[in-house]
Amino acid sequence: MKLHEYQSKQIFSKYGIPIPKGRVASSAEEAKHIAEELGKRVVIKSQVLVGGRGKAGGIRLAKNPDEVEDIATEILSMEIKGLPVRKVLVDEAASIEKEIYLGITNDRAARKPVMMASAAGGVDIEEVARNTPEKIIKIHIDPLLGLRDYQARDIAGSIDLPRDLWRLFGQIANGLWNAYTGCDATLAEINPLVITSDKHLIALDGKMVLDDNALFRHPDLADMRDLDIEAQSEIEARKYGLSFIKLDGNIGCMVNGAGLAMTTMDIIKLFGGEPANFLDIGGGASAEKVAAALRIILSDPNVKAILLNVFGGITRGDEVARGILAALNDIKTQIPMVVRLVGTNAEEGRQILANAKMITAETLVDAAKKSVALAAGGMVQ
Ligand code: GDP
Ligand code: MN
Repeated sequence: MKLHEYQSKQIFSKYGIPIPKGRVASSAEEAKHIAEELGKRVVIKSQVLVGGRGKAGGIRLAKNPDEVEDIATEILSMEIKGLPVRKVLVDEAASIEKEIYLGITNDRAARKPVMMASAAGGVDIEEVARNTPEKIIKIHIDPLLGLRDYQARDIAGSIDLPRDLWRLFGQIANGLWNAYTGCDATLAEINPLVITSDKHLIALDGKMVLDDNALFRHPDLADMRDLDIEAQSEIEARKYGLSFIKLDGNIGCMVNGAGLAMTTMDIIKLFGGEPANFLDIGGGASAEKVAAALRIILSDPNVKAILLNVFGGITRGDEVARGILAALNDIKTQIPMVVRLVGTNAEEGRQILANAKMITAETLVDAAKKSVALAAGGMVQ
């Protein structure tokens, strides 16, 4: 789960990282009001979950509250990389002397978190990484020991930070490490961390990505999820404990198990089709869950056929079959469904479905071929 800049910076602040004074607003009037409170030059920043807002015109400076209102009106009507702007952050403007990059993520190859820093921070850090990777310093952190003081000093030296800022830099690097581990993040990033003209360090931008699998330990962070920007179907899926990812194809997939779901998508592609989604209904899927999954798949107007692939283990074939029938009682649809059921109570399940005149398949290959044909408007016996 990605956090917005304003959310990330609030967390950074709790961990002792200096951030500019400011607040988030959902309307231009509110933005103006915040600017009046701050009583200084401010920067107005679109809150969308993509990078490169600056270059897209989503970050602008304003001299006075009236200007803030105009600019906020403009930014709040923008779309950045396809995402509508619903909120702006109004922050006290900083006068920047130098922009630094500082971030932590997991280095899977090294099986350790890695802290990265660069004196060439700011909006072009991706370019720096591509063209002059030697300008990015990397230090691995032993997860049991945490970030050591000497490591933070090492980084400060390597990016040529003035000596009198090392102590504050140490506090910030430590704060970032503690925020990263404390929130079970997979990314915590400050870009830019700026040296201001009055020789201070302050986090102007913040980005955090949290590990979805750890969110149950952080109900307060889970509440920060921005429902505005998620596909409605994905929200619905989460409610029923389904793993669902919407894709662009036209064959809806309902599968139990992530590995089997990926296999199903692969085999659809092998026979020339395109999956409309990834959907793992999980083990022991109840009739209610199956019904919810079917509703979610059918809410996508692109879907022209559905392939249901269930390997019965804990999940019983007859239970899944009854779930489908129950769902089809509520949801009337003309979309053809191909069902491949194997494993526990598969025979009973197939019987129930065959009685209901659904298309059944013995093998996955057979099921994939049939769904591809149906999605293309063909018929199968
Ligand atoms: P991003 O483009 O989405 O990464 O957004 P950032 O928050 O990093 O802002 C992009 C750039 O805008 C920064 O690198 C700065 O150069 C500039 N910027 C952001 N806030 C301020 C500010 O308070 N004062 C000034 N002068 N520039 C700012
Ligand atoms: Mn940035």
